Amino acid sequence: MDHAGRLRRLQGALAESKLDFLLATHLPNVRYLCGARGATLFTDGRYIAQAREEVRGARVVISPQAPLAAAVEWLGTRLATQQGGAVKKVLGVEPESMTVGMRERLASGLRGKVQMRLAAPLVERARMVKDADEIRRIRAAVELGASLFRVALRKIRPGVSEVAVAAAMEFEARRKGAEGMSFSTILAAGARSAVVHGRASAARIPQRGFVVCDFGVILAGYCSDRTRTVHVGRPSKEALGLYDAVLEAQLAAVSAVRPGVTASEVDEAARNMLRKRKLGRYFTHSTGHGLGLEIHEAPRLALGQNQKLEPRMVITIEPGAYVPGKWGVRIEDVVVVTPSGCEVLSPEDKELVIV
Ligand code: ZN
Ligand code: ZN
Repeated sequence: MDHAGRLRRLQGALAESKLDFLLATHLPNVRYLCGARGATLFTDGRYIAQAREEVRGARVVISPQAPLAAAVEWLGTRLATQQGGAVKKVLGVEPESMTVGMRERLASGLRGKVQMRLAAPLVERARMVKDADEIRRIRAAVELGASLFRVALRKIRPGVSEVAVAAAMEFEARRKGAEGMSFSTILAAGARSAVVHGRASAARIPQRGFVVCDFGVILAGYCSDRTRTVHVGRPSKEALGLYDAVLEAQLAAVSAVRPGVTASEVDEAARNMLRKRKLGRYFTHSTGHGLGLEIHEAPRLALGQNQKLEPRMVITIEPGAYVPGKWGVRIEDVVVVTPSGCEVLSPEDKELVIV
């Protein structure tokens, strides 16, 4: 972990936002900051052992009271020693993870000693660019995740339920050391393959048709995400055409990834390819997302997203085409942005598998 780098990036972000302190309450942000020198983790007695084992970089304050109250007390002491002149120090809070109750307790605990302001997603921005240790962990997670597809291929047969396939994959994930799945395994067979987030159901795999498998694991805190679509029985010419179009779109988006291009340009690369095949209107979601401590993080690869890609960002590329009531195809890989383009993690064959 690059403890000093995390601190440096965050201090820069705080200064730019004119914040003196930032109270992180979003758990993945808290976890990230545990690896930043200069940060302080407030926690209670239940987490003594875990904090000792996992926190590298940050100071740890174990408090008999609620962590928020401990943070208020710590800040009060800091302000008493730092306060000079009439200008109030500014505390940034994370609006998306702070409840109204927490805000009230914070306000009453600090009683006007500090100015409270809703902060921009500063930690999320810092988290977009991964350090070497994070990339190593994501690589390991993606490798483990990729191996689950082989289990799926052994299990997918007409008459087998979607949950039975998902269960076999999830069992294998845990057996290989995953902490859990990064989201509910998506297994959508036949007409259900048109359901973008078709979580594995009791439905049985039909004699013929696509099966979309979208799955990921959490390993050492980091997520993987991958989609493969297989075909049960002999595919029609039209089915082959649909698969090829999505694959072409996926490859076009992967080739578009390099430092300096915007997230929306990558999205556009996939979308254009599907439009050319008159499938544009069936591509109903964005092309991808960042991933790391969370399965969905910044940047979002979608229309209008001006975020420029930078080396060491980790993103998914996952175009799809879905014809409601009929079928759907999605193909997804995780890629790491490199100085000259990108590296696809576990880049196994993406030709259509027929079972
Ligand atoms: Zn994804
Ligand atoms: Zn996925």
